[in-house]
Amino acid sequence: MEKRDSFLPYGQQWIDEEDIQAVVDTLRSPFLTTGPTIEKFERSVADYVGAKYAVAFANGTAALHGACFAASISEGDEVITTPITFAASANCVRYMGGTVVFADIDSKTYNIDPTEIERKITKKTKAIIPVDFTGQPAEMDIIMEIANKYNLIVIEDGAHSLGADYKGNKVGTQAHMTMFSFHPVKPVTTAEGGVITTNSEEYYEKLKLFRSHGISTTPYSLEQGEWYYEMMELGYNYRMTDLQAALGISQMKKIDSFIERRREIAALYEELLKDIPGVITPLQFTNTDSGWHLYSIQLDNEVLTKSRKKIFEEMRAQNIGVHVHYIPVYWHPYYKDLGYKKGICPKAEEWYEQALTLPIFPKMTNEDVVDVVKVLQAVIK
Ligand SMILES: *Cc1c(COP(=O)(O)O)cnc(C)c1O
Repeated sequence: MEKRDSFLPYGQQWIDEEDIQAVVDTLRSPFLTTGPTIEKFERSVADYVGAKYAVAFANGTAALHGACFAASISEGDEVITTPITFAASANCVRYMGGTVVFADIDSKTYNIDPTEIERKITKKTKAIIPVDFTGQPAEMDIIMEIANKYNLIVIEDGAHSLGADYKGNKVGTQAHMTMFSFHPVKPVTTAEGGVITTNSEEYYEKLKLFRSHGISTTPYSLEQGEWYYEMMELGYNYRMTDLQAALGISQMKKIDSFIERRREIAALYEELLKDIPGVITPLQFTNTDSGWHLYSIQLDNEVLTKSRKKIFEEMRAQNIGVHVHYIPVYWHPYYKDLGYKKGICPKAEEWYEQALTLPIFPKMTNEDVVDVVKVLQAVIK
């Protein structure tokens, strides 16, 4: 079989001339940061998902930090999340001094298992951070029911799921706060960027305060003079620039076509992969519609003779940019040093050993998809 001429990455942005022009126009405007474009971008995201408020941040991780601040997470609080995610979903809890508690996944959907969440709840539990892994929404109705029962705050990590549908609505209003990332591999990009959507005015105000040094934007005491402002909380400079926001507005106009193309690619993968022995495709709920940030398969190690490592290496040698998402978060040395041990989430670990991410992004052609499947088939034969 012939090797591809060029490397096919697992994910890649789509930038067109309109995007470029939007950024250039902003460069020529009076505001490079803290200008009017930020609010327009926030409005475009809030309107798209149907939320009352959106607050833009420098990146998704900063946005998660902001959400944990707004949720008043502090030392002694426990926050439950999945180990099959990017480390930021857990790290944001640590920034606030909280304790991360990992709940196991459902091996079929790869998402956090609501039953496991409930099993991990203690008197100290303050919040849940479910992750819409690969773009498939977590089981939010059940998670919100659990949260209401135990009076917990839910911060949905929707880094993968902007544009995904959950029971007829866009992801972004089911939880108390939802985070979206705008990193180049994510559904739409601002180069770096993050947004929290919420329907709560209280969280909205806290998020805005936190993003900009904890400084109140409403003139406080006019006794002092018009220059006067007050720093209310220990905030950060987590602001997005107007250049990024302009790119974001332009990108948001294309999100539906991006998601549609991702869904076509996923459907083609499903069709081409479903009858290959040893390859398990991701189970999808019928009442949700994934945004397909990632296409993650399981390589059944009871059927296949080659190891995942070997399959990965041989596919990479053929210029197919396969990847593995994610290493269980508590395996990382930082978490190991905090006392987390292997075996906490056995299903997640077993799942991880068999996981392989195949390339998926809107610019991929059907021929690219066929290439990936051909190489996979040849390699596992
Ligand atoms: C990308 C990502 C983040 C962090 O977003 P950044 O914008 O890169 O900071 C958080 N959680 C998950 C699941 C992600 O994939």
